[in-house]
Formats: sequence, C-alpha cells, structure tokens
Amino acid sequence: MNWKNKRGKISTFRYIIQLLFFFLIFYLSTIGVWKGVLLLIVFGMTLFLGRFFCGWLCPFGLYMDTITLLRKHLKIPYWSLPQKINHLLHIIRYSVVFMIFLLVLLIFLSSVSFFELSNFIWLRPPFLPYLFFLEPLQTIVLPWKPPFGALFEISGIYFTYPYVGEILMYLQKSWFALPLAVIFVGVTLGASFKVRRFWCRFCPTGISFAAINRVKRFRVLPFLGLSKDGEKCTKCGICKRVCPVQVTEIYEKKTGKIATSMCVLCLRCVEMCPQRNCLSLKLANRVIWNPE
Ligand code: SF4
Ligand code: SF4
Ligand code: SF4
Repeated sequence: MNWKNKRGKISTFRYIIQLLFFFLIFYLSTIGVWKGVLLLIVFGMTLFLGRFFCGWLCPFGLYMDTITLLRKHLKIPYWSLPQKINHLLHIIRYSVVFMIFLLVLLIFLSSVSFFELSNFIWLRPPFLPYLFFLEPLQTIVLPWKPPFGALFEISGIYFTYPYVGEILMYLQKSWFALPLAVIFVGVTLGASFKVRRFWCRFCPTGISFAAINRVKRFRVLPFLGLSKDGEKCTKCGICKRVCPVQVTEIYEKKTGKIATSMCVLCLRCVEMCPQRNCLSLKLANRVIWNPE
C-alpha cells in the first residue's frame, strides 16, 4: 500500500474545515470579539473533545499542514524526531503552561482594585501572559494594525504571524525585536517543512486536559477519542508512520481506548490503517466513524 503520499477523503475534509475556521477567526478578529470567549472555546473544547481543536481548527496547525502539503507535492521526505525528544518536548510544554498560570496568578493576587479585576476578565495589561495561549489563532493578514505591531504592511493590509505580536510587545524598545520576529517565522516555517507539525511539539496551547482523566472520577473525559480493535491489527506500523505528531501509542496499545494527550485527532491513522474496522473514532464510547 502506498501510504506515504496517499491522501484520503478525511484529510481533504479536515483541510476544508481548517480553512473555514481560519476565515471565521479572521471575521471574529475584525469585529473585535472578546478574547476570553476564544480562550474558553479552546480549553473547554479540549476538556470534552480532546485535541480536536488542534487537529481540525487551529490556524497555526493549518499553516503547518499547508507547508506539509507543499513538501509532499515536491516529493521531499520528512524527518522524524527521536521518540525520547518528542516525549520530552511534550512534557516541557506542561512546565511552560504551569509558569504562565503561575505568572498570571501572581499578578492577580497582587491586584486589589475592581479596575484590575476587569483587566483580568478583558485580558488587558497586566494580564497579557494569557494571550500566549491565543497566539496560534493569529490570522496572517489583518485589515487593521494589530495592537502589538505587525511584520509589514501593504496598502492598509497588515501581515503578521503567531507570536509575532508577543515578540514585538515584550521587546518593543529593542532594535532586534523585528529581526527576531522574522527569524521566528523563518525557523518555524522552515522546520515545519521537514518536521510535520513542528510547532505543535512546543506549543503551550496544545496542552491537553485529557490528563484530568487520570483522576478516577473524570476518567470518561475527553468524550471524543480513538479506539483500537487489537484482534484486527496486523502490526504493519502504518499508523505510527503517518501520524504527524509521532504518536506511538496507536501502534503499541493492544486494544481499547487510545488515551494519549499527544494525539491531535487528525484521523490520519484511522483513514490509512489497511485493516477494516481496526481503528475507529468514538464519542462517549459510541463509534461515530471508521473507514469503509
Ligand atoms: S499544538 Fe498549538 S499550534 Fe499546534 S494545533 Fe494545537 S494550538 Fe495549534
Ligand atoms: S492499527 Fe492498523 S495501521 Fe496500525 S499497525 Fe495495526 S493494522 Fe497497521
Ligand atoms: S494518533 Fe492518529 S489521530 Fe492521533 S494525531 Fe496521530 S495520526 Fe492523528
């Protein structure tokens, strides 16, 4: 089976959904939607639907998947990270998230007036560290000047990129703020060309509340996830090779629910598994999709 360059219907469908969400986010950013809503959507969705947001909706994920499409079109092979490093990066992200929460908590505890509390709710200074979590939703073009700056402007259209606003904001007085932002764009796009979903290995927004299911009471969460029928598996290894974030549990698990917070639910493994009904997508223990 030529699994390397084969593109299934589900991958095409997923790409269309990613594009539609990109335009929705662009529209929401033009009408100035409250960013707290977006934060609640991302984290609420992750709690109940696992990392569906990462696989199907995230704009930064769309940029990286587009780079991957280009690489495939050019028939250039990708690199896989060593498994130990891949897992280590996944764990490091939790420390980054912990530090962001700690920072915001410290700022919150040092705030006393209602005015500052409203700043917390509206994600205004000094509570800006929260905005790190929303950076992957940054659309690359904007019809107005972003508050923290942009890479460049052409006829009133501003071009930016995830985290560029943060870099420019925190280093605004430094001469190297813009060069650093450009380097960040170059490195992440360049690396995504060879390492699939490169930034997803570092991204703090992609942390999964699936970890909460280690607590007995919450074991049912997230409701959406993959399942494997071990009796049908021939151990061909295709599932772990096609996985863009190098999840190995899908291959290693003998049977039942695949509970890993690394999985972005892109369903690439499900559509490429050559064994019928071996892998499936389940919602609250009911199969909602497995390939024909
Ligand atoms: S890990 Fe981050 S960049 Fe990757 S898809 Fe999830 S939110 Fe987007
Ligand atoms: S789950 Fe499917 S793709 Fe993965 S090893 Fe088993 S048969 Fe192969
Ligand atoms: S395990 Fe399957 S669904 Fe999860 S990220 Fe990898 S390929 Fe996508």
